[in-house]
Amino acid sequence: MVSREVQAHDTVVRFGNASVGGDKFAVIAGPCSVESEDQLMAVAEVVKQYGAVALRGGAYKPRTSPYDFQGMGIDGLKLLKQANEQLGLPTVSEVMEVSQMEAMCQYIDCLQIGARNMQNYALLKAVGESQKPVLLKRGLSATIEELLLAAEYIYDAGNPNIILCERGIRTYETATRNTLDLNAVAYLKQRTHLPVVVDPSHGTGVRELVIPLSRAAAAVGADGIIVESHLNPCEALSDGHQALTGPMFEQLMQELKPFVEAA
Ligand code: PEP
Ligand code: MN
Repeated sequence: MVSREVQAHDTVVRFGNASVGGDKFAVIAGPCSVESEDQLMAVAEVVKQYGAVALRGGAYKPRTSPYDFQGMGIDGLKLLKQANEQLGLPTVSEVMEVSQMEAMCQYIDCLQIGARNMQNYALLKAVGESQKPVLLKRGLSATIEELLLAAEYIYDAGNPNIILCERGIRTYETATRNTLDLNAVAYLKQRTHLPVVVDPSHGTGVRELVIPLSRAAAAVGADGIIVESHLNPCEALSDGHQALTGPMFEQLMQELKPFVEAA
């Protein structure tokens, strides 16, 4: 169902006043984790000011170590709702398990399936049965075919509003956190009608590489990017090393202008 052979025209996924897919290049931005009201509101204002169409932020965090910050949970979701109401930015946040679905649907506009959950079929069916748009991230070691079949689970359960996300894969390379697979973006754009966004933050893990890889994503035909930003990355509770500072986010938007405005 997600194949271009079934539907030739591009799917456009809408949530709030954001749309992803079609002619527009969409920038979704915000912190890795929601940490506090002050932190979230401050960064949300900056990303909105420079042209982000949606706010990202994790309330339930899949951390590699159980001793790392696990997210604010429901309080984080409430802060995202508050940011949405005050700034008018729709929100994207990760749902980690089926039991979180009710709260997620109450507070959040677009449900992110994280890389680690790309093949959690119970969760894919649950978001498929909901009415919310889904941002589906490629698994750490998933093939493109497996990503498309994961999308198929969501589609088959009744939800056609799916955004695919290339967020870097595991390779032998250790210079960067992951290897951003831009082949996948060009390939997916030909194979599927679903919108494809790139996450250059997790794709590289290095703040200084986020802007160049964002330009690359736009050049290769992605429908947008999802980037992490934090006004004080040294103090961030997760992924600070890959977060764009406020001035860097401004620069990113400046450099993407030809793509955002061509839309
Ligand atoms: C995130 O978006 O913060 C995240 C955990 O991403 P991924 O699932 O791609 O690792
Ligand atoms: Mn992160």
